[in-house]
Amino acid sequence: MSGDSHAYIGFEEYTAHIPASIPSAVQQATSRFVGGRAARVAELPQFEELRQIGSDIRLHTIENLDYYLSRLETAVQAAGGRVHWAATAEDARQIVLTIAKEHNVKLAVKSKSMATEEIELNHALQAAGIEALETDLGEYIIQLAGTGPSHIIVPAVHLKKEEIAALFSEKLHINAPADPVELTRIAREILREKFLSAEMGISGANFLVAETGTLVMVTNEGNGRMCSTMPDLHVAVVGIDKVIPDWESLTVFLKLLARSATGQKLSTYTQFISGPRRSDDEFGPKEFHLVLLDNGRSEILKDPVGREVFKCIRCGACANVCPVYKNVGGFAYGWFISGPIGAIFAPQMLGTPAARELPYASTLCGACAEVCPVKIPIPTILRHLRRRVAQGDEFSPAAMPAAISAISGLASLALAQNWIYRFGTRLLPFMMSIFKRDGWIPTAPYPLSRWTKARPLPPFTAGFRQWWSDRSNSRKDTPR
Ligand code: SF4
Repeated sequence: MSGDSHAYIGFEEYTAHIPASIPSAVQQATSRFVGGRAARVAELPQFEELRQIGSDIRLHTIENLDYYLSRLETAVQAAGGRVHWAATAEDARQIVLTIAKEHNVKLAVKSKSMATEEIELNHALQAAGIEALETDLGEYIIQLAGTGPSHIIVPAVHLKKEEIAALFSEKLHINAPADPVELTRIAREILREKFLSAEMGISGANFLVAETGTLVMVTNEGNGRMCSTMPDLHVAVVGIDKVIPDWESLTVFLKLLARSATGQKLSTYTQFISGPRRSDDEFGPKEFHLVLLDNGRSEILKDPVGREVFKCIRCGACANVCPVYKNVGGFAYGWFISGPIGAIFAPQMLGTPAARELPYASTLCGACAEVCPVKIPIPTILRHLRRRVAQGDEFSPAAMPAAISAISGLASLALAQNWIYRFGTRLLPFMMSIFKRDGWIPTAPYPLSRWTKARPLPPFTAGFRQWWSDRSNSRKDTPR
């Protein structure tokens, strides 16, 4: 079940080398969002009811996707747009490249789009000699840095203003101050020129309204409007899961999205695009193309548990509250969508053999499910995918490394048989003493080396019962 998609790097590889600055930058930003969300949610007494309605609408839509996609296609065409179906990432890239070549495009301006990250469109455009310029400030920063996004809605959340200033100074050959207002001004000045000269604008979409064929873009910077109205050609690349039935549904999602994402009542710009410019319109592209991307989604839809991932409205709230994400940052997930949603999305899109660590990149604390505006049961899907990794199912074979499977089998035997457990608790301290240095185990043989690559292992000192009894005795002895 794997689509041809954004390359996966590997959770384990990355977590061994997390730069110290990332957790602090991420925690600062996510704490702000969590506070903002709590305040906005408290102002809306019907928020819980809206979450349920949002969840029901998304589930209903993905269960009837054929119907809504066909309705969407008819409506987009009626509004003068063209619809292209892309079964794979390669198909989507070729569709966009063909359109670009037909229009002799040299420069494309892009607004933030996870679908174009997924198909690695920028690389394909650049390989074809077309400059693809990101115009969302965060995306512009990471494009200069040559990395992917580390958060769904704040792609450069891992960078502090001093690091961005250093990046601008190096890449733009200027002396950039560590002042957010000034940095924004510098980026805006560069991008304005590009908006005026680009032949093609590329975007994604937050929602596609099937009823009228309308593409909805929710942004805070206004760059989406520039990309979709200044050039004569607008191409939107959107996953088939982004369709919603009608405008009534949209009102529910607009109430949920900004509150959950940035703690705003409404984002600064909400743009509705129904086809290209009409003859009496002052602005807008002469051509509008909608590329609908499958790339493995139809397969995932066959799994009644896993498919709930497509209810996602990409708000990022699950990442903001996730204790794992906040300590390792987005790059650790190795894919362009990170955090809890990445941990359930990537293994399904890429297949569990390719991303088998991600369902385990969670404490299963449930904080993500508590804040998810469309009630995706993330911990349930994580457990479902863990089972797939360990045992395999109709969608994918087991993908657990043999050594870990063997150790899990031994552990389960030991926990079921008291005498094996007792024997093991005597044997383990002896075996571990071979590797002990200054009270820690800095390097251990495989599979424990997977842990010691990142940090030393505390030595095993006693069985649980012994540890509990020692702990209780020491508490009794402590004067209160
Ligand atoms: S899973 Fe839920 S909380 Fe996470 S990004 Fe998607 S909609 Fe937002």
